[in-house]
Amino acid sequence: MREHIWMPSRFYKGLTLPLTYLLQTFNRFIFKLFWISIEISSLNQSLLTCGTSDAPLILYFETLCIRRVAMIGKVDLVMWAKNGERTLPQVLKRIEEAIPHENVCHKILIDDHSIDRTIEIAKSFNWNVYPNPKSGIPSGANEALRHVDREFFVSIEQDVVLAKNWWEKIPPYMQEPSIAVAGGIRVFDNKILRILSEFYSERLGRQGEMEVCIDNTIYKTKIIKALGGFPNECPICTDTILYKKINWFTSYKWVIDSTVISLHLRKGIRDQLEHSRAMADKCKRTKLCSCYHTPHFTEPKLIIKPNPKFSVSNLSLVRMLITSPIRSFQVAVNKKCPEIFFVYPLIRFYILRGYLKRSKID
Ligand SMILES: [Zn+2]
Repeated sequence: MREHIWMPSRFYKGLTLPLTYLLQTFNRFIFKLFWISIEISSLNQSLLTCGTSDAPLILYFETLCIRRVAMIGKVDLVMWAKNGERTLPQVLKRIEEAIPHENVCHKILIDDHSIDRTIEIAKSFNWNVYPNPKSGIPSGANEALRHVDREFFVSIEQDVVLAKNWWEKIPPYMQEPSIAVAGGIRVFDNKILRILSEFYSERLGRQGEMEVCIDNTIYKTKIIKALGGFPNECPICTDTILYKKINWFTSYKWVIDSTVISLHLRKGIRDQLEHSRAMADKCKRTKLCSCYHTPHFTEPKLIIKPNPKFSVSNLSLVRMLITSPIRSFQVAVNKKCPEIFFVYPLIRFYILRGYLKRSKID
């Protein structure tokens, strides 16, 4: 008797292949969904900020990219410095620790006519030093940009010690096509100043804002060059103006990740007082300056006709100085730091001095 052996017909063969493929794809999809949901739940505490409307985008991006090794290849590092011998060794050493050597192409330092050992220290860390053709941050930043030839570049300032997790967390943002610039935040090394800046940040945070900085920041070179480089309208507000130009006038975004915290070195309170006074004195008060307290995420139409109510007038600075003891008392009690009671009014006084000097010149 002939044994009946079942052989799959051509019809069955044709059906099995696509079914297997479909099952495999479905499996992969479920697997991915499972991991994404786990990642999202673990990110609930994340403080990422990029405007309220962009939060889902950032969360999605964070989920997919942040834990991967940065795959953006080599970047150029830029720095502009002036008499930075006190902090440069610590800052440059940390850059070497935080950014893998194999991911660094050029190291470009623009020296702003330093009279100390800035150039010598930079060269000892293998940085290429070029002179600032004029002086100030916009000129230094644009001269640095002129030497950049990689797709991405990183700017770090002479008094900022990069966060150890900076490289792992910030450059992956560059993989998102809509993001042009990304950076973390920084806190002062001085305890009192740190408490004060936390107070400012909390106040800004309540308005949905973040402090903008270009001292631990990565950029897409093409976009910055297309915008005409770093803004030179004001020698002080280069960061805020660039931030507003990108977020208001282009379809790109600047992301600030507050989970990446670098250290801002200051000599002490006196150093910060002088810094506040000099900033207020040198700010040109352009419509995009940080003295116009228009929210960063406001519609661009507001900037064309800035609301004068938002600008800082000398009168409002006097008012802030007069009321500063009340505010400083609140902060001193809340933060359990009695020194704040004296320091905050002093800072307000130095800022007013700077603005009054600028008003006389104008
Ligand atoms: Zn300004």
